[in-house]
Amino acid sequence: MKCPYCGCWNRFEVDKIFVQQPSPEPKVKVFIPMYKPLKTEKCKKCGKVIAEAN
Ligand SMILES: [Zn+2]
Repeated sequence: MKCPYCGCWNRFEVDKIFVQQPSPEPKVKVFIPMYKPLKTEKCKKCGKVIAEAN
């Protein structure tokens, strides 16, 4: 994940979850992938929180 403050790339563990989206066609299920951080993650360079567990 790229830090929005300083642009530094940080690598950390995330859960990949699929969230069902409403679809105009009831027979078709639409899922979009979402990345859920396991804990609050801070940028290793500038120290700002860039991901929060929920
Ligand atoms: Zn940063």
